[in-house]
Amino acid sequence: MSTPTTITVPYIEGDGTGPDIWQATRPVLEAAVRRVYGEAKGLRWVEVLAGEKAFAQTGAWLPPETLQTIRQYGLALKGPLTTPVGQGIRSLNVQLRQELDLYVCLRPVRYFQGVPSPMRRPELVDMVVFRENTEDVYAGIEWPASAPETWELLRWIEEKTGKHLEPDTAIGIKPMSREGTRRLVRRAIQYALSRGKSSVTLVHKGNIMKYTEGAFRLWGYELAREEFPSETIPESEWQQTGGAPVGAPRIVIKDRIADMMFQQVLLRPEEYSVIATPNLNGDYLSDALAAQVGGLGMAPGANIGDTCAVFEATHGSAPQYAGQDKVNPGSLILSGALLLEHIGWTAAAACIYEGLERTISQGIVTYDLARQMSGAREVTCSGFGKALIEHLP
Ligand code: NAD
Repeated sequence: MSTPTTITVPYIEGDGTGPDIWQATRPVLEAAVRRVYGEAKGLRWVEVLAGEKAFAQTGAWLPPETLQTIRQYGLALKGPLTTPVGQGIRSLNVQLRQELDLYVCLRPVRYFQGVPSPMRRPELVDMVVFRENTEDVYAGIEWPASAPETWELLRWIEEKTGKHLEPDTAIGIKPMSREGTRRLVRRAIQYALSRGKSSVTLVHKGNIMKYTEGAFRLWGYELAREEFPSETIPESEWQQTGGAPVGAPRIVIKDRIADMMFQQVLLRPEEYSVIATPNLNGDYLSDALAAQVGGLGMAPGANIGDTCAVFEATHGSAPQYAGQDKVNPGSLILSGALLLEHIGWTAAAACIYEGLERTISQGIVTYDLARQMSGAREVTCSGFGKALIEHLP
């Protein structure tokens, strides 16, 4: 008999409703792995601390051992963390991303049969957003209005560009680098090729911000041409072929201006597959896309770097529902399924997707979806996890 493969997964329970959704999620992941691989594969969980629990036990919000353990195993599954207000500490989520250099924010958006949606044909939505996670206006380089160093900058700008800005102007800097863009677009193309996707669309606002967002577009095409010459084709050249069928091993590289893309994902979702975009566009676009297929309670996510990946529920800690066994664990369950895909256990992930779809199409849902559906059977957070396990194929 061969030795079973066990993968160790550090987990952060999270604050607020984090423990509720974690307790519903863990049995689902274990049941799917058991269902698909029997005794041949298994998960081993190691708790690492962050947020309120870490502060209560160690006095640190993000203890160094947490980062060390995640680095050691290259993985983590994370519940939502409350950002303490007015205590002078940065968002722990941002800190985790920066400390571990998790430069891709991955947000798959797909529809599960039965989920209430504002779209007429939500099943056409099947996109994966690769949002740049470390640059852009999120780098936090800002100066407040009416501060002496801001006036210094205003003077410098006037001297260098001849542009006069009012003295009560605040300033924020939008840094975007060639390498930062290239590593994001590289991951998006590799993902599209490995999953048999048909296109990667660069979403930018380059018509207005030419040296940042415009450069993102140019650098994206440049990377595709240099590193994937035979696997990619720009949309303009592809159209000259009469739009021949594509898909692995050849994908189309498109680009769209961000504001237009918001219309496109509503009106022509079937034309888009993998999306690569700078930080701010990606923030807006991934939440808007999540709303098209059932809201944040169902939206999984991951933050990925070259050596580590942290999979997380994309919603916050919803503290007003903490401990009530009420909220939807779908986002964390689906993030766990993404983790399984990441380690190559795709059959277990597929088993979860099917179980989830079967559960929801029976009308078994938590309160957030129940209130939008007629004839739904509302269950608790843990009740949803149990029902999902019963509906695993
Ligand atoms: P939130 O996502 O926690 O809650 C907003 C509303 O969304 C809730 O009132 C609830 O109605 C609904 N909701 C959220 N999760 C749900 C679920 N699983 N099922 C059903 N409904 C759900 O956003 P917020 O209130 O702005 O933030 C609360 C805290 O979470 C803040 O401290 C914030 O900084 C933090 N936060 C953390 C993350 C993260 O850890 N990734 C993300 C966003 C916000």
